[in-house]
Amino acid sequence: MKPDPFEVLGVSPRAGWEEIRRAYLRRVKDCHPDRGGDPERYLALQEAYERLREAYQARRRVQVVRERPGRGDYFLSFIELSIREVALGAERWVKVPDELVPCEYCGGGGLDPRGKKKVCEWCRGEGLLAESGGVYRHICPRCRGEGEIWLTPCPRCRGKGQIRGEKEVLVTIPPGVREGDFLFLPRSPDGPALDVFLEVFVQKDDRWFLEGEDLVCRVPVPFWKAALGGRVRVELLEGAEEIEIPRGLPSGARLVLNQRGPFHPDGRRGNLVLQFEIWFPDEYPPQALSLLHEFYKIMEGCHGGATRSQ
Ligand SMILES: [Zn+2]
Ligand SMILES: [Zn+2]
Repeated sequence: MKPDPFEVLGVSPRAGWEEIRRAYLRRVKDCHPDRGGDPERYLALQEAYERLREAYQARRRVQVVRERPGRGDYFLSFIELSIREVALGAERWVKVPDELVPCEYCGGGGLDPRGKKKVCEWCRGEGLLAESGGVYRHICPRCRGEGEIWLTPCPRCRGKGQIRGEKEVLVTIPPGVREGDFLFLPRSPDGPALDVFLEVFVQKDDRWFLEGEDLVCRVPVPFWKAALGGRVRVELLEGAEEIEIPRGLPSGARLVLNQRGPFHPDGRRGNLVLQFEIWFPDEYPPQALSLLHEFYKIMEGCHGGATRSQ
């Protein structure tokens, strides 16, 4: 088993090419043998980098199709994408079927070497057969000289003697994929050994939801900020940003960020809609709580307990 190239380079399997390249350059500098570094570590870095470079060069863009064929020889599985991956597109390592290889467990014979067996009826367990009328004996072709015959089909390969290998390929998923679409990866000599269809599932997320062509992002705002205004940190599609909250923010207020939302298959981009939801903590520091009681009393005095101030 080769070491995981991402682990060797200390990057996430989701890392883009630029990040991988930088991680490699940073690490390789420290352990170059000319500078007294560890040659083994140096070679491991080189190998990990080479493997990833090849994979990234061979990365393939999947086709998005609405349905899979009803019949035919193909591999069907599923893929779970986050809302962010759906909105911006993604690069993903995907496990796909490789060529058939002999089953290691049964040595390719298709029978379980730990299963039931019986005495060979040709040679009666001797493993050798006398030639008709002769004195020579030759190896029994039925049991191959074992004298016994295995009876149980191999549990690993289900008696086929071959197992389909697995490999990982890097695929580029275009933005705008929807739940229930299929990603299609045609078979190719350096790709999957079978046509691959992956049904798309979009991960449920409390924070985001799609609304037509736009993406809505729920933003909790602490009630004191909703009352007095301030700034909140919001995780947008391309990273966190500070957003200015006006004084007296009404619950459910929305802020539309034009063309900062999900990309669509035709290249257009939808909006990102921030939906502010006023948030109350479960617990308060004692001092804040007593001030809050005080505040409550004052306000009740002003407005005579009315729910609205007008
Ligand atoms: Zn035999
Ligand atoms: Zn087997």
